[in-house]
Amino acid sequence: AYKTLEAMRDLPTETKDGRHIRLAANVEFAHECENIKASGAEGVGLYRTEFFLLGEKKLPDEEAQTRHYTNLIKGCAPHEVVFRTLDAGGDKLPFEMLDEPESNPFLGWRGIRVSLSRPAIFKEQLRAILRASAAGSCGIMFPMISGVTEVIRVRELFEECKKELRDEGVPYGDDIRVGVMIEVPSAAMIADVLAEQVDFFSIGTNDLTQYTIAVDRVNARVARMFRPTHPGVIRLIDMTISAGERHGVPTSICGEMAGDITMLPLLIGLGAREVSVGVHMVPIIRYAIRHLHYWECKDVARQALQAHDSMTVRALSEALARRSY
Ligand code: PEP
Ligand code: MG
Repeated sequence: AYKTLEAMRDLPTETKDGRHIRLAANVEFAHECENIKASGAEGVGLYRTEFFLLGEKKLPDEEAQTRHYTNLIKGCAPHEVVFRTLDAGGDKLPFEMLDEPESNPFLGWRGIRVSLSRPAIFKEQLRAILRASAAGSCGIMFPMISGVTEVIRVRELFEECKKELRDEGVPYGDDIRVGVMIEVPSAAMIADVLAEQVDFFSIGTNDLTQYTIAVDRVNARVARMFRPTHPGVIRLIDMTISAGERHGVPTSICGEMAGDITMLPLLIGLGAREVSVGVHMVPIIRYAIRHLHYWECKDVARQALQAHDSMTVRALSEALARRSY
């Protein structure tokens, strides 16, 4: 079976009836980059910058960040690297010691909220990503977006950074794609509004599941309730992808769900244009995509959207997966 996966590495990730699904890799650590090329992934769909930024005692400065991001982009060329800006808080490493611990960290000072309340630090990251973008293809996206005002503010800061760099005569790429993570239910519900501000959506099914069902993603006591196939979650995914389609904004799925071969029929059927998965999962996901028919996936998604409970949704997708692989 391993030989089969190897042989498939350079084949396109498209369904049997010809729908291309971009297959990208999720990356947390720079050393994983060596494996990206080998896996045949079409670039990085989610680079979680918090692991690099918070791995040191203090935040790396703009120069160090620029070097790091540039190396990533060069290592993945000609494919695109999508950088997600710092997602501190929640279960992530502490960004700075809070005077008082939060009683609900997942509902507190996390992700874009941290970045927007520390604009000087945020701008260093934006400038570093912009400077790195001169070296090749890259995108940028923002975690934990809950409303359009955040996106507008982020874009203002981004434009400010571009202007500064222009004034300083520092080059940056002019085709950098801008996207938002859809991982808070309110963002999914206003996806049509957000679509006017961005080039792409990336659905974080881990947080979207946590926040939709109100089930802590790291609490073992309620782990059984953590079901990305909950009809509430599926409807929000559908709303996001459909709103994106109406506005010409493609949707990627980058949560754990995308790396589950039994869930692929459902996600592809709902209209996902890209999946971004752990590097080690890339070959098996390619194999799976190449064994599916898009029209059958659409049928699964249509039925799933009528289903009443997560077990039924899961069973529909699993049945097609079993028939196909
Ligand atoms: C997600 O929430 O699904 C996601 C991809 O981001 P993270 O797991 O880093 O929160
Ligand atoms: Mg998340």
